[in-house]
Amino acid sequence: MDRRQFLMTSAAAAALTQLPARGHAAFEITRTDAEWRAMLTDLEYKVMRKEGTERAGSSPLDKVYDAGVYHCRGCDLALYSSQAKYDSGTGWPSFWESLPNAVGTKPDRKLLRVRTEVHCRRCGSHLGHVFDDGPPPTGKRHCLNGVSLVFRAA
Ligand SMILES: [Zn+2]
Repeated sequence: MDRRQFLMTSAAAAALTQLPARGHAAFEITRTDAEWRAMLTDLEYKVMRKEGTERAGSSPLDKVYDAGVYHCRGCDLALYSSQAKYDSGTGWPSFWESLPNAVGTKPDRKLLRVRTEVHCRRCGSHLGHVFDDGPPPTGKRHCLNGVSLVFRAA
């Protein structure tokens, strides 16, 4: 692949991740509802497939600061590095950036204030929300559900 092809592919990939999630067609990895239910606990299913939220402070990953990578529980894609993890004090695992080409976002209008929903780029599993009150260098706070993640120590 030459540089021009690579740039075009990257641009196409970037454009894809900007699209709102429409059904399941936009994602590389798709599973039926029955398949998701079979591979996930009730809580994981509710959070990852129905955009639910785990109870604050309930995830052991909130207090994990070991070196490693956080993968998507739905498809094992590497999503976040421990290097971008910080203690937001919210009770949810928080990061100031995702790994490149790992997540997609869409507007979430469930509350009065529009929030930015964040999900796995590859399988569409819901991760959490992105807020603008994070630390430098990005100022972003990716506020995630620990049940959507699998931590792999480096
Ligand atoms: Zn995934």
